[in-house]
Amino acid sequence: MLIVQKFGGSSVANAERIINVANRIIDTYKQGHDVVVVLSAQGDTTDELIEKAREINENPSRREMDMLISTGEQQSVALMAMAIEKLGYPAVSLNAYQVGMYTSSTYSSARLKRISRERIESEIERKHIVLVTGFQGINRFEDITTLGRGGSDTTAVALAASLDADLCEIYTDVDGVYTADPRVVKNAVKLHEISYDEMLELASLGAKVLHNRSVEMAKKYNVALVVRSSLTNAEGTIVKEAANVEKMLVSGVAADKDVARISIIGIQDEPGKAFELFSMLSKAKINVDIILQSVGRDGTKDISFTVSKDHLQDALAIINDNIARLKATTVAYDDKVAKVSIVGAGMATNAGVASLMFEALYDAGINISMISTSEIKISVLIDERDTEKAVNSIHDHFNLGI
Ligand code: ADP
Ligand code: ASP
Ligand code: MG
Repeated sequence: MLIVQKFGGSSVANAERIINVANRIIDTYKQGHDVVVVLSAQGDTTDELIEKAREINENPSRREMDMLISTGEQQSVALMAMAIEKLGYPAVSLNAYQVGMYTSSTYSSARLKRISRERIESEIERKHIVLVTGFQGINRFEDITTLGRGGSDTTAVALAASLDADLCEIYTDVDGVYTADPRVVKNAVKLHEISYDEMLELASLGAKVLHNRSVEMAKKYNVALVVRSSLTNAEGTIVKEAANVEKMLVSGVAADKDVARISIIGIQDEPGKAFELFSMLSKAKINVDIILQSVGRDGTKDISFTVSKDHLQDALAIINDNIARLKATTVAYDDKVAKVSIVGAGMATNAGVASLMFEALYDAGINISMISTSEIKISVLIDERDTEKAVNSIHDHFNLGI
């Protein structure tokens, strides 16, 4: 079998952990499998590199940021190759350039487009354990790009798809996907399996156990995906096509603090204003999430919406530059908010789900400032300080715990 394994930052955080992972990789190799391994940067390396950049320039170009933060992954693969060599097995480390992992040109959130198979296949043929840098790619200018925070999962799934691997294992510091972040909800339950669609929602709504693009890609190419622990042998969570997964009313709760709310007050209540506003933002590649428009009164209306914290300043600048054109009076923002969501394939056909979620928030004394729903999820925007309380109360009300 050809197996792709990915180990996250905490799994390779220090020398001892690297040796531990090296032994796990070798175990798989000794069973006769071809092994391609994707690694993240050690521990907090990526955060530390970002901090280093900030000390020098508060607003560095995204190109140079990618050049910098991609180095963490390169350290990991080289160190892992050395560990495997020391244990007496053949390994080779490769970065995105050496593999030929081509992405779109958008620095800091590039999308993988094409992966060359030649180099990896020739290393596999020579019976090497192949260690590939996660998170990074190269664009058409042959510049280094990165795939967005948490992007090593996506590197792994993309490699599995392009090499037609039999299995893609994501090893992390928890032993699977739970009904909520097990660090926040003490009695969260490990899911035996989850559908691609529900996992994609959970990941997009803040459950960072998998990068959302990795799930998107696994679904598209039908990659057999397992999330499991790098420290124990516990059985993990299988992520797969919905048809084979038991339909749960609610399968999980997720929270995302990387949100900010912008409110534009007193916009002229006439056709075309929402279109003008959101087309300006979309031209600047700013993704807007929850949108709320008030009922018009005295010829004006208010529009509120959320963006990621990373886009807040850019969005405010665009709106302030165009405030006269929008015929608005003021712009306000709040970056101390969080989005809490429930996800479940079964909720589409059950009317009581939303009201039970609102009851859970009411019982916890939490105010809701915005609501958005889709077929398999409900999200609310609340005060950031209430996040953990909200997640726990919702988890309890839906009886998701043990
Ligand atoms: P890695 O460095 O291995 O990529 P991450 O920190 O990116 O690991 O993701 C693992 C973390 O995801 C866990 O430590 C856990 O706190 C968090 N997490 C959030 N939601 C969930 C969930 N529903 N199930 C499991 N883990 C979750
Ligand atoms: N090292 C990168 C990050 O911290 C990528 C990853 O861990 O997946 O975001
Ligand atoms: Mg991760």
